[in-house]
Amino acid sequence: MTEPSRPAAASPTPAPAAEGAPRKRRPPRRVEVSRVQVLSPAMRRVTLTGAELQGFEVNDPASYMKLIFPEPGQSEPSRPLPESPRATTMRTYTPLAVRADMHEVDVDFVLHGEGPASTWAAQAQVGQVLYLMGPGPGYKLPAQASRYLLMGDDSALPAFETILARLPPTVPARVLVEVTDAAEERPLHSPAQLDVRWVVRGPDNTQAGRALEAAMRQVGFSAEQASIYLACEASAMRRIRNLLTDHHGVGRSQIVGRGYWKLGKVNHPDHDYGDDA
Ligand SMILES: Cc1cc2nc3c(=O)[nH]c(=O)nc-3n(C[C@H](O)[C@H](O)[C@H](O)COP(=O)(O)OP(=O)(O)OC[C@H]3O[C@@H](n4cnc5c(N)ncnc54)[C@H](O)[C@@H]3O)c2cc1C
Repeated sequence: MTEPSRPAAASPTPAPAAEGAPRKRRPPRRVEVSRVQVLSPAMRRVTLTGAELQGFEVNDPASYMKLIFPEPGQSEPSRPLPESPRATTMRTYTPLAVRADMHEVDVDFVLHGEGPASTWAAQAQVGQVLYLMGPGPGYKLPAQASRYLLMGDDSALPAFETILARLPPTVPARVLVEVTDAAEERPLHSPAQLDVRWVVRGPDNTQAGRALEAAMRQVGFSAEQASIYLACEASAMRRIRNLLTDHHGVGRSQIVGRGYWKLGKVNHPDHDYGDDA
């Protein structure tokens, strides 16, 4: 087991596109696996490297990027056309540590069992090729928050790590993480005053979010001036958000809710903010 590297500091904010100007899509970047680390039985850290990462800047924590995987029978993906990357097998991941000077980005993959991304990550080897698009926007840390609650499952751990790296030293931050097995627990780091609790749901994914809900009911939480980042299975996110607003006195505007995956759904969209509920 390897001690995880920490998320890197942000790059400077790029100038926004002029208003009204068409948004230019940056061509997908070819990247190669340069390192694979086993963080826990179900979590792989893959370092992607390549000269085409020149200019890849991540400004917000919990940002996202798209990774394009080889199709069955391909040793590497064909270079996707910038205008139609969706014709490829593409999934959403969090850029964890970006080392711009070395043209490197780390990605933590949950090995959840099925799906092209999870299957690829389980066999990932140095020299293999992916394409990368993005990054897309992330979480703006609210200036007025006097405490944080980060709540979610293993797929949100990379996002949590990037948020934790940015918190100020004086602020209390509670982290509640649901994993499939106690062997997934590992140290998390932050300048903030951290209180990390791991809860185990077991291997049955139909139970996604249930252990989180139970923990939330048990530990309680002071809602005053709290900022909450909640990311997990899509239905669980909605249930837990309701629990927070209906039973813990949290205002909806204090919660950033993200459905990171959906039970039984392939390639759940990257923009599930739960606006339907
Ligand atoms: C903004 C954002 C950032 C994300 N960052 C990360 C990240 O850094 N690391 C990470 O591992 N994931 C991350 N995810 C989640 C990841 O995009 C999904 O888990 C994705 O579905 C994985 O693709 P796949 O090909 O393995 O499975 P898919 O082909 O999409 O799905 C196949 C089956 O697996 C199930 N499934 C998918 N994901 C999970 C899961 N995590 N646990 C249990 N069952 C699952 C689906 O319900 C489906 O039945 C992020 C998602 C979003 C929206």
